[in-house]
Amino acid sequence: MRFCSLGSGSRGNATLVESAGCRVLVDNGFSLRELYQRLRSVEVEPNSIDVLLLTHEHGDHVKGVWSFARRHRVEVWTTPGTWRAVGAPQIPALRLLSGQGQSVKIDGLHIRSYPVPHDAREPCQFLFEADGRRLGMLTDTGCVTPHMTEILQDCDALILELNHDPELLRRGPYPPSLRRRVAGDFGHLSNLQAARLLDALPHRAIARLCVAHVSETNNHPELVRASIRGVCESLADRTLILEQDQASAWCAC
Ligand SMILES: [Zn+2]
Ligand SMILES: [Zn+2]
Repeated sequence: MRFCSLGSGSRGNATLVESAGCRVLVDNGFSLRELYQRLRSVEVEPNSIDVLLLTHEHGDHVKGVWSFARRHRVEVWTTPGTWRAVGAPQIPALRLLSGQGQSVKIDGLHIRSYPVPHDAREPCQFLFEADGRRLGMLTDTGCVTPHMTEILQDCDALILELNHDPELLRRGPYPPSLRRRVAGDFGHLSNLQAARLLDALPHRAIARLCVAHVSETNNHPELVRASIRGVCESLADRTLILEQDQASAWCAC
């Protein structure tokens, strides 16, 4: 299995995951033109994508999902709540996943959805398994539940949100209502919350940690790295901070 980010942050998110014979795109918060450029940079043909998974209806995840699905006749998998929240658009093929979590197999790739607390209608995140390897994905969640901690045990690679530093958020330019939203239980994970989650996982076994959805206003790469180092010095060496404006390199899992 391997994966890469096509961009991560509040201005757009998309992630590719593939294993033998199967290629999946998680979210597309970019215009078609922008997505094509980013796919080219990682040498992926748009027509080679088998399934598009959608985590939730926020614009930074859904912007180019429906246009991509129609043009390339790609099946979209999402929860009923997310599909309704965007107005139940007509697309060539749709598979509705239970908002409580569900496992689906496509070729050799096992995909498990699981629910997360976020201010969307029925948001979920995903765990991927292939050839005995596990890739966990967790962004856009306001807090960590015991269920989520259990799902993310034993990951070989993890894409994890470290959205904000609480102090920068408190002192920053966001209006109070937005600040409360981001910091709330249905907002985004702070560096501290993510570090606590890592501490509750067997993090020495995580061969690659990709830090996602980092706020450009309320966080800083140095603070992110310090938070990871606080959990495990060696994990910091295996950490990649994903960028908003460009795709990452392919990461093996
Ligand atoms: Zn988001
Ligand atoms: Zn969101």
